[in-house]
Amino acid sequence: MIIDTHIHLDDKSYVDDLDDVIERAQTQEVKGALIPGADPKDLPRAVEICEKYDNIFFAVGVHPYHATDLDIEYLKSFASHPKCIAVGECGLDYYRLPEGEEAKIAEKQMQKEVFIAQIELAIELDKPLIIHIRDASFDSKTILIENDAKKVGGVLHCYNASDILLELDSHGFYFGIGGVLTFKNAKKLVEVLPKIPLEKILLETDGPYLTPHPHRGKRNEPAYTKLVLSKISELLNINEDRLELMINKNTNSLFKEFS
Ligand SMILES: [Zn+2]
Repeated sequence: MIIDTHIHLDDKSYVDDLDDVIERAQTQEVKGALIPGADPKDLPRAVEICEKYDNIFFAVGVHPYHATDLDIEYLKSFASHPKCIAVGECGLDYYRLPEGEEAKIAEKQMQKEVFIAQIELAIELDKPLIIHIRDASFDSKTILIENDAKKVGGVLHCYNASDILLELDSHGFYFGIGGVLTFKNAKKLVEVLPKIPLEKILLETDGPYLTPHPHRGKRNEPAYTKLVLSKISELLNINEDRLELMINKNTNSLFKEFS
């Protein structure tokens, strides 16, 4: 059994054929999924999906691109739902910063405050974090450590495969590996992968984005999680079935709700 621990099934690109998407996932052994929060407007849709399908869960949170939309009370109103199992995806993304030095500093400051508020929410709710990091490894690591994110732990997703983040292993963090690993230019992630403890690897797609080879350019979907598993198995030279069992165990130790 494979769990896609990061898939935006609430995205509008899945509205028309979600039943087929779920069915295709099942045929590829992908039997569960976690929908991270990104745009708070999509939360009602995530709840709707989770109420319809077994073994699909969601998280409450705002992606750094939607940081200005943070409303903690709104997130809390969804957090008591039995299928809400995590907080995020929250974090720092310095890839698309505004022009001008002052504007850059203000944007970073705002993202940091919103990130910290969500770490505090996770601790209050006692739920693990889903962390988005892009071009902001050092600041993200510092914030996670200074704000005691260790109390709840979580998964690092979309990290730039930076050695800086490996240290977070000892702070209760798992590493979500996705389709980027199959890209021809995934040199950094390929280098970092063997340094990640095996018991800390999770699988994800981040669909509808970052579609793995050979489907690059098309919409990503949970069925492709299997391609990521195969690539890890090839790179680490571990039998795929054995690896699947190991990762399954990892997934369940962080997200106990999956059956
Ligand atoms: Zn995402």
